[in-house]
Amino acid sequence: MLRVYILLLAAGLMLANTLMAAEASPLPRHQPVPGGVAVIGLGDTGFGQGDLVRFNDRPVMVREVDGEWTAVIGIPLSATPGELQAEIRHRDGRRQPLGFEIRDKQYEESRLTVEREMVHPGEEALRRIGRETQRIRSALQTWTDAPQAWNLAFPYPVEGRRTSPFGLRRFFNDEPRRPHSGLDIAASVGTPIVAPAPGRVVETGDFYFNGKSVFIDHGQGLVTMYCHMDSIDVSVGDRVETGSPIGTVGATGRVTGPHLHWSVSLNGTMVDPDLFLARP
Ligand SMILES: [Zn+2]
Repeated sequence: MLRVYILLLAAGLMLANTLMAAEASPLPRHQPVPGGVAVIGLGDTGFGQGDLVRFNDRPVMVREVDGEWTAVIGIPLSATPGELQAEIRHRDGRRQPLGFEIRDKQYEESRLTVEREMVHPGEEALRRIGRETQRIRSALQTWTDAPQAWNLAFPYPVEGRRTSPFGLRRFFNDEPRRPHSGLDIAASVGTPIVAPAPGRVVETGDFYFNGKSVFIDHGQGLVTMYCHMDSIDVSVGDRVETGSPIGTVGATGRVTGPHLHWSVSLNGTMVDPDLFLARP
């Protein structure tokens, strides 16, 4: 009887260890498609401390995992399937091409009817949108050398129901719009939103399309964005940890109902947030 109990206990501990190992990962999932992430081992390139990887004229996240250097490259949704080129820049000035293959991915399609002025903003709104686009772009292109978040298997930033996925090809009033650049999670107004990883708040604001929004820099070109919020509970410069409250779900900006629009940007490129969510 005691032996059975010990065996069960050992099995339970092993299971717990496996679950913990599955939850904490210093890398997102490898999905080399448009809008995905390429996780590329640099073991046979001679890459070392102080070397850099660049892609599309931007620095790329590089992590040392179990003694092997690994590049983590965000791939634009607009990328054409086939071979893409990144580049290693060694400390001694040598440059080395780093090619990688991406395959095609078919994203879903959705058609919506929305208020006309949200599809055709007036002149004043267009000027406002122009200014805001600059702020949003510069927040998403934040680069800090040190990784703030080592664990890149995130918990959900809010409890709710997944609705529109990343990459959804959208039509508003039958006019094609940019594909969906984040993951929507529906929840009632006031539901708390938490940071899924440590970082620093680099921008907040109330934007025409995105409504009340927060941007968190997690280091090495990884920035997350939270939109349509009801309240914002952090300020630019604040440090957040995993689970820190940053505000609540709302319906501000261009929305059809309360939800969190959550975007993940890597090397200045919006990628599928799902690749960063811990598997249950
Ligand atoms: Zn959305």
